[in-house]
Amino acid sequence: MKKTSVWKDDAEASHYSPLQTDLNVDVAIIGGGITGITAGYLLAHAGKSVAVLEALQIGGGTTGFSTGNLYAVVDERLYILQAKFDTDTIHDVAASRTAAIQQVENIIRGFSIDCDFHRTPFRLISETEDDTSTLQREYQACLEAGLEAYIDTMAPVPFYISAALRIEDQAQFNPMQYVKALATHIQGTGCAIFEHSKVVSIKEGSPNILYTENGSVTAENIIHATHSPKGIMAVHGLLGPYREYVLAARLNSGDYPEGICWVLNKPHHYSTRTYTSKSGENYLLVLGEPHKVGQKEANEACFDSLEAYLRTRFDIKSVEYRWSAQHYKAADSLPYIGALHPKSSVYIATGFAADGLTYGTLAAMIISDLILGIKNPWSKVYAPYRHNPLKTAGRFIKENANVFAQYLKDIPYHADVETVSSIVPGEGKTVEIEGEKFAAYRDESAELHLISAVCTHMKCIVNWNEEAKSWDCPCHGSRFTVDGQVIEGPAIANLPKKETNNLP
Ligand SMILES: Cc1cc2nc3c(=O)[nH]c(=O)nc-3n(C[C@H](O)[C@H](O)[C@H](O)COP(=O)(O)OP(=O)(O)OC[C@H]3O[C@@H](n4cnc5c(N)ncnc54)[C@H](O)[C@@H]3O)c2cc1C
Repeated sequence: MKKTSVWKDDAEASHYSPLQTDLNVDVAIIGGGITGITAGYLLAHAGKSVAVLEALQIGGGTTGFSTGNLYAVVDERLYILQAKFDTDTIHDVAASRTAAIQQVENIIRGFSIDCDFHRTPFRLISETEDDTSTLQREYQACLEAGLEAYIDTMAPVPFYISAALRIEDQAQFNPMQYVKALATHIQGTGCAIFEHSKVVSIKEGSPNILYTENGSVTAENIIHATHSPKGIMAVHGLLGPYREYVLAARLNSGDYPEGICWVLNKPHHYSTRTYTSKSGENYLLVLGEPHKVGQKEANEACFDSLEAYLRTRFDIKSVEYRWSAQHYKAADSLPYIGALHPKSSVYIATGFAADGLTYGTLAAMIISDLILGIKNPWSKVYAPYRHNPLKTAGRFIKENANVFAQYLKDIPYHADVETVSSIVPGEGKTVEIEGEKFAAYRDESAELHLISAVCTHMKCIVNWNEEAKSWDCPCHGSRFTVDGQVIEGPAIANLPKKETNNLP
């Protein structure tokens, strides 16, 4: 079984040079996922000079580890959004997301991008009579949001259903192939792309300056297309980071289900889809088992639960790929897209939940319109500075109580182990040495990797992620390698290393 996403095998490797000079552009974009690359395309196409700085490789963040579904509804359900806001808001959400899917299709057709894009139905399925009322509520909200929706008593799945909500004309693609191909078309057309160019500090002002290790970019506008914006911002108090798991399996029969299929299950749903690879192999993907980042021990077991779920419903032959990734839920369930405040030249795009291939595209559309001075019909709905404390309150209190609990958990500090000698190969544990908190990982060759356990973002203590072999911050979702390098999340600085001589 491969421990990576199924998309990677079908996407061309990208080879953009790192930034090694100082540049001056109209717009600097941090992050080369679907948000950053789409924004790069739209802005360069409109005549702006653009630089995209990507820490890893294009599509190497969450975009390349998603499930490649594009749909107008939302993970949190439209009827819940309607109850928090109103019918106009869900109308805007459905219309803006439909426009973003069309944007993806236009780009694909315009550049003849080969990424298995196809229109397909979306289904929300209930397996029990109990869940049928949830389905009915979502159906009603879909109609009020202007979507053409249907209720069926059958669906193309090999298990019993009580009802299914169906929306035609949604879409699926290989997200990694898409962003990598789009990047090749925009490179050099007013847009310069740099890989392995991590932004290590940001100076906001007029102009803004982004620094990487070997060069800087001075820009009138900067876009944080990093999934969670970098540095300390008020918006981090409004975001809940969640990790989720995916399996890609082969079936004994050739009966792979068509379309995007979400099956209601408490407390969340499972999402399945079929992917046909370039070599013609079919895979059934399943996504689920979400939990707060850094707050689940023994998280390898999430894959076992996913597999058990699949095996009770499909005739599974083998599991071929598995991967995990994270997303960020917004306090009021609407993403934060746009300038930090009405006069700011710093733009953010975050809080997409697991709906961000569409929201990321929409963010690129809204932000590029804002920069170009074009009126966008949806910019107000998603503005980061919108004030709706009542709508935000529920999850804001829950997420911040959760963050606060993470801080309290460490007072007084309880390290996982007292001595590093008790850590066996493959294991990561926290340890206290001379009053300081460390994260210690012993690799398979018994070498110890010792770094500070204090997150460089807001000083929470990181926890071991046994599945991804990383140190994850349970407060705002920053993740670090065993040697302390930032992988993702709001942190900018790495966790400092500690000498491993004379340890307890
Ligand atoms: C398991 C899973 C499945 C999902 N499936 C779907 C789906 O089917 N449909 C859907 O709509 N959404 C889905 N989502 C959500 C969606 O994948 C994300 O919301 C979306 O990919 C976010 O795109 P992005 O470009 O904003 O961020 P990313 O793709 O994460 O890109 C951000 C980039 O910024 C780079 N970066 C970070 N820090 C720096 C730095 N300091 N300097 C330079 N670069 C930096 C990263 O390396 C990364 O490449 C899923 C999410 C998960 C977790």
